[in-house]
Amino acid sequence: MDYFLTDAQKKLVATAHSIGEQHMKPVRQRYDEEEIFPWDVVKVLGESGLCGAYIPREYGGAGMGVFELVLIVEELSRVDGGMALALAGSALGAYPILLGGNDEQKARFLPPIASGKKLAAFALTEHEAGSDATALRTSAEKQGDHYILNGTKCFITNGGEAEIYSVMAVTDKTKGARGISAFVVEKGTPGFNFGKKEKKLGIRASATRELVFENCGVPAGNLLAREGMGLILALRTFDSTRPGVAAQALGIASGALEEAIAHAKSRIQFGQSIASMQAIQHMLADMATEVEAARALVYATARMIDATKARTTRESAMAKLYCSDVAMRVTVKAVQILGGHGYMHDYPVEKMMRDAKITQIYEGTNEIQRNEIALALIKEAAAK
Ligand SMILES: Cc1cc2nc3c(=O)[nH]c(=O)nc-3n(C[C@H](O)[C@H](O)[C@H](O)COP(=O)(O)OP(=O)(O)OC[C@H]3O[C@@H](n4cnc5c(N)ncnc54)[C@H](O)[C@@H]3O)c2cc1C
Repeated sequence: MDYFLTDAQKKLVATAHSIGEQHMKPVRQRYDEEEIFPWDVVKVLGESGLCGAYIPREYGGAGMGVFELVLIVEELSRVDGGMALALAGSALGAYPILLGGNDEQKARFLPPIASGKKLAAFALTEHEAGSDATALRTSAEKQGDHYILNGTKCFITNGGEAEIYSVMAVTDKTKGARGISAFVVEKGTPGFNFGKKEKKLGIRASATRELVFENCGVPAGNLLAREGMGLILALRTFDSTRPGVAAQALGIASGALEEAIAHAKSRIQFGQSIASMQAIQHMLADMATEVEAARALVYATARMIDATKARTTRESAMAKLYCSDVAMRVTVKAVQILGGHGYMHDYPVEKMMRDAKITQIYEGTNEIQRNEIALALIKEAAAK
């Protein structure tokens, strides 16, 4: 389908494509097996300008938007959803600063993220606070011109590798959701250390780690927006970044579809290519249709986000929900089309199937997306 990309957008996709083919494809299997963080790929992404596509020009970026971020993440994830997450996870960490930071904070933190010299990360989840972010326990107590952070964050993408962390912590536990605030905490701040590094089912080239705060003094100048705005900032961030998860899922699905078509054409059984068998053709047709529907939804959502100042919670949740479910269905079918080969590490589709699963879980599980979509529908109906 033609999405009428501009020349600049086509150029971004072409750049991401060549980085994927040249720098990611040759190493993706090894990086997955050995859980290697792709710093070499991040360096190339930074030099090519892709890390800052969505960051305004005055802060070192290309001044584009969520749509361009989606195009880049999709194209990189077509080759490797784990490595692509270094860039997408950094965007997740950067968005609270973009949305809630003042000019000084943006000028301080965004240029190195835009250039890819530093990665960012987003730290909301804790062991007792997953889907229910209001159960956060990490505290931030104001003492003079600093906030003192105590607590542990878990499952943080880019944890340990990133330099810049957007961290949600409780500044007033009597106020529930309105008592959570957002801070930028830099790696190296005394009292900020890294805990357990997770071993995972998929996206194994991505680092997922605990952050440990023990009497960590964060300058008051690193508070984003105002006290009590942390959860709102996190939710507004998700409006812009869930399409990024959707794009990661879409990229994984389209990569799996490509592998399935290529294998179906070359695999001979019963004296004919399996691509000539209707059972295989129907699977391919369903996969391609779902991939295109997913693409149309996430592109439309991303374009809407860039064009409106209104909240896009429902649309972003729909894109994330649909694309991630498509990624799961398509990668499972790709493994089926490759048969026994699909089950082996030597072929990329088993990794794609493992990588797809996370897109149904993080940035809010798909059950949480459904809750949000339903809530929006009911609110809308009540307002009529
Ligand atoms: C690889 C990885 C990377 C991650 N990266 C980050 C990161 O960078 N930053 C960050 O802050 N977090 C990150 N996370 C955390 C992630 O966002 C959470 O794991 C996710 O939101 C789910 O929380 P949970 O794991 O505690 O599951 P739980 O909340 O315990 O959910 C368990 C099950 O219960 C269901 N459930 C819970 N509540 C409801 C409800 N109200 N209605 C219906 N069903 C419900 C869930 O859908 C799920 O099926 C990451 C997680 C992983 C695995």
